[in-house]
Amino acid sequence: MTSTGSLYQHYLKHRTICTDTRNIVAGCIFFALKGEKFDANTFAEQALGLGAAYVVIDNKDYQVNDRCMLVADVLSALQDLARHHRAQLDIPVVGLTGSNGKTTTKELINTVLSRKYKTFATRGNLNNHIGVPLSVLSLGPEIEMAVIEMGANHQKEIAFLCSIAQPTHGLITNVGLAHLDGFGGFEGVKKGKAELYAYLKTHHGFAFINRNNPYLLEMSEKAGLNKVVYYGTEASNTISGKLLKADPLIELNWGNKSGTFHTNVQLTGAYNFENILAAICIGQFFELSPEQINTGLSGYSPNNNRSQISKTAHNTVICDFYNANPSSMSAALNNIAQLSGENKAIIIGDMFELGQESAVQHQNIVEQAEKLKVDTLIFIGKDFHTAKGNHTGQFFESPAEAAEFLKHNPIKNSLVLLKGSRGMALEQLLPLL
Ligand code: ATP
Ligand code: MG
Repeated sequence: MTSTGSLYQHYLKHRTICTDTRNIVAGCIFFALKGEKFDANTFAEQALGLGAAYVVIDNKDYQVNDRCMLVADVLSALQDLARHHRAQLDIPVVGLTGSNGKTTTKELINTVLSRKYKTFATRGNLNNHIGVPLSVLSLGPEIEMAVIEMGANHQKEIAFLCSIAQPTHGLITNVGLAHLDGFGGFEGVKKGKAELYAYLKTHHGFAFINRNNPYLLEMSEKAGLNKVVYYGTEASNTISGKLLKADPLIELNWGNKSGTFHTNVQLTGAYNFENILAAICIGQFFELSPEQINTGLSGYSPNNNRSQISKTAHNTVICDFYNANPSSMSAALNNIAQLSGENKAIIIGDMFELGQESAVQHQNIVEQAEKLKVDTLIFIGKDFHTAKGNHTGQFFESPAEAAEFLKHNPIKNSLVLLKGSRGMALEQLLPLL
């Protein structure tokens, strides 16, 4: 069996890790993970043929030559290697979790910190038990600071991811009604996310906390955190800010000891205000000048369908179909209600992973949406379909049915909110808008 120490020597020579034979990089170390459908042990020989320097496998039947390193379990080997690598690095790592806004806030923090430091941030949304180790193993010797997103849908997951990323600084964006199924309700979400605060407490790390959020305050007090930096709307915070406008893009004033600054950000959604403040707070903590922070923020523009404004042939669409849960859906509805514009349309799809709360949460969203004055209101999916509406909205079981409707009833010259869980794939409606 190959030990972590020996794997690490190979890693230091090769540095690149691959887990998919479709994206093999010559000279990489290929980890043969097991997926739902595949056992990558069966691809080990192919990976070597495609240029992998070594493969890490956990089935000796596939050990074709001495470039196959046998371990007890490939996933654990990857995680142990990442944990070991992280422990060798003496750099600040900002660990992020929360129910909503992790990726957006991660991008904002990175955009700011990269004005002064050589940074690495989680690519895309690689935030789970495989993504976090891969992120950590991307940290080369040139990196001065890292921002690592950690996602979770059950207890103990954040504690485990912290053991790999070993954050020296941490941020919980918020706690909301997401993954209620796996966490066991809202109290379970708070408990699961607070594992980041517990880690920081034990390891003497710093937490950045939104003082406007009573749940985060309660959780941080419970964890006994003392190295805390606050941000929020009150001037008593280290960083305080005021949202001036989010119509459709965000404008804010923010301040610290040295004065007040004005910033425009290419993001929509009033809820992003707190994500921006978090990035400002972290930027200031790591001694960036207000000018550097400002330049970083105003130069950022999302291209990941998270609160992204797209001009289509006939409409302006708030592309928010990357994901959805009751908290982010409710925030998105409030947001479009507040935006100016004569004609508005809302097209929303089912929210997944809500377990036994699913029916009531879909019903709540239907009620919230039907109170809004919009020209077109469309609900899509089986869960919305079973909710009761007062007939101001149209209900469709699938995006295909909604597409048929839109073909015959096109929406024009409107501001459109398009949002639903990833599995609803609402992007397929975009060409019809
Ligand atoms: P995931 O769990 O998929 O990794 P995430 O936490 O990384 O999600 P983002 O991808 O940044 O979240 O944002 C997804 C959506 O959540 C946004 O497009 C927006 O609708 C909503 N959102 C972002 N920030 C907030 C916030 N602070 N409060 C409520 N909703 C938010
Ligand atoms: Mg994310």
